Amino acid sequence: MLERISIPNVMQETSRKFILKAKKIGFVPTMGALHNGHISLVERAKNENDITVVSIFVNPLQFGQDEDFDKYPRVLEKDLEMLESVGTNILFVPQVKHMYPEGFLTTVKVRELSDKLCGAFRKGHFEGVTTVVCKLINIVKPTRIYFGQKDYQQMLIVKQMVNDLNIDVEVVSCRTIRESDGLAMSSRNVYLNHAERKSATILYKTLKHIESLILQDKISCRDVSKIMYKMLSDEPLVKEIQYADIYDVKTLERLDEFKDENLLAIALKIGDTRLIDNLIVERKK
Ligand code: AMP
Repeated sequence: MLERISIPNVMQETSRKFILKAKKIGFVPTMGALHNGHISLVERAKNENDITVVSIFVNPLQFGQDEDFDKYPRVLEKDLEMLESVGTNILFVPQVKHMYPEGFLTTVKVRELSDKLCGAFRKGHFEGVTTVVCKLINIVKPTRIYFGQKDYQQMLIVKQMVNDLNIDVEVVSCRTIRESDGLAMSSRNVYLNHAERKSATILYKTLKHIESLILQDKISCRDVSKIMYKMLSDEPLVKEIQYADIYDVKTLERLDEFKDENLLAIALKIGDTRLIDNLIVERKK
C-alpha cells in the first residue's frame, strides 16, 4: 500500500522510525507528471533499498518569473496509480506553504557549476534546486537519492553539494529513458504539438550523429559545436538554440580537445517549449 504524507514533520518522523529499524531508504525526488523515466528511478531505488520514497513537489524556487510554474502539468491521481503499480512505499507531497513558510530565509548555492549551461539561461534555477533537494534530504533522510542523467548538470551539482556539505547520502545517477524515436522522456513533452513533437527528435539525432563522428575520428573537438548548431538550426521548428557543445564531464568547461569522457549537451526551444538532452561519449584509449 502506498502511504501518502504531506507534512514535512510527519515524513521526518516516519523516516526516523525506519532508520531505527536499520531500514535503507531509497528516495526519488520529482515534480510529478510521472513517466517511465521517473519510474525507472523508482524501480532502481526499490531494488537497492528496503523502503522507497518518492516526492512530488513543483518547487517555485527553481522557476524563473517568465517560466512555466503555473502551467507545469499536475496530474496527481495518475501519478498515484503509477507509483502504486510499481510498489512505492511512501509518496511525500508537501505544499508550498509547508516547504517555504513565512519568514523562510535560507538558500543553498553551489557556485560555478550552477552558472554554466542551463544556469546561464535560467538565473537562480539551480540555487532553487539545491535548496529544495537539501531540504528534502533532511526531511526524508534517505540512504540513497536517485537522479536521472537526463538532467546531467543537476545531478553533478547535487553531488557537489552533498560532497561539500558532508551530507550523508549516496547520489545515484540513472540512465536516460527515451521514447522509441529517441526523444528523452520529459514531463514537458506534453507541451509539444504534433509537428513540434516530430521535430524534437533532432536533439538525440544530433547527439548520436556527433558521437559517431567522434568515435570514427571524423571530427575535431573544435568543430563539434559548429556542426551541432548547423544540424539543429536546419530543423525549421527549432526557434532558439541556447547551447550545443562539448564539455568536461566534471567541471562543465567547454573542451578544446577530446578527453576519455566527453559530455555532449544541448538546450533549445521548439516553439515555447524548452528541451534539453545530453550524451556522454567515451573515447577508447
Ligand atoms: P523532474 O520531475 O523532471 O524534476 O525529474 C525528476 C527526476 O527524474 C530527475 O532526477 C530527472 O533527471 C529524472 N528524469 C526525468 N526524465 C528522465 C528520463 N527521461 N530518464 C531518466 N530520468 C529522468
